[in-house]
Amino acid sequence: MRPFSYTRVSDPATAVEEVASDPDSAFLAGGTTEVDLIRIGVARPRRVVDINALPISRIEEAPDGGVRLGGLARMSDVAAHPVVRERYPVLTRALESGASPQLRNMATMGGNMMQRVRCSYFRDGDAACNKRAPGSGCAAIGGVNRGHAVLGTSEHCIAVHPSDAAVALTALEAVVRLRGPDGERSVPVGDFFLPPGDTPEREHPVEHGELITAIDVPPVPAARTSVYLKVRDRESYEFALASAAVVLRVQDGAVAEARIGLGGVATTPWRAHRAEEALAGAPAEGASYELAAVREMREAVPRSMNAYKIELAERTMVRALRTAAARAEGVG
Ligand code: SF4
Repeated sequence: MRPFSYTRVSDPATAVEEVASDPDSAFLAGGTTEVDLIRIGVARPRRVVDINALPISRIEEAPDGGVRLGGLARMSDVAAHPVVRERYPVLTRALESGASPQLRNMATMGGNMMQRVRCSYFRDGDAACNKRAPGSGCAAIGGVNRGHAVLGTSEHCIAVHPSDAAVALTALEAVVRLRGPDGERSVPVGDFFLPPGDTPEREHPVEHGELITAIDVPPVPAARTSVYLKVRDRESYEFALASAAVVLRVQDGAVAEARIGLGGVATTPWRAHRAEEALAGAPAEGASYELAAVREMREAVPRSMNAYKIELAERTMVRALRTAAARAEGVG
């Protein structure tokens, strides 16, 4: 492990200044990913700026009926918050299904949005990996790729996006608030995660020194009956093989609104636009859900070991849609 210096700051302006002024520095929040990456030499900051004392950890109801999640709000606090539980069960469930309770107590919402991929080649300093060492190749494409993505991939990277919460926030159309040396700005979650394309090393449209101060979740009335379904190799402390975040509104037996996020199958938290289009106005029944799921996965590109994810994602989507429809009908 390389030596690095450590600074603790207590206000956002200083935090931004400290990191923005030094290209070899990095923010440190919960540290649940960052410290691991430093230990194995994948992250190599010369200076770490501890931001845990910044006043950006609150969870606040917004006047419009939405909720603002501080960038340093802990995953466990957000999952347990009564407003989140009542209005956005999809987010509570996604948070509760991610990581272990101990990690959820430490990990922050901002860190969750910025977490790095779990591809084993990315974490192996001797393997070819375009994300860690641009231009070196991608060992996963011809290697062990059972857990890798089938949507949003490129010939340069097929790593799957690891966050559950980001999948729920994609379906909820949340907005990420950033503070940087040039001031504040907002980025919709749908634009916050970059597919690998030709530059897999760039995962977010975030400049060095920009800090996630909050995530705004807008009011989504239909989200009160929303669903997050995660399928994985074991029941806890495991990443998704496929997951679906579903917000569904049914009116007179037809789909009036459908928002679907997919996890475990794509290089970004995946918004299932093709499925949503197929569902618009369709009868709220199994055949519509199956058709929409197949349509979404039609453009999937499987590799040697992960073709099973196509059917798994379809089935996960269908089951989540059925559950959401039953909940919606129970309320309505
Ligand atoms: Fe690296 Fe991406 Fe290939 Fe994994 S899939 S080895 S992260 S380039």
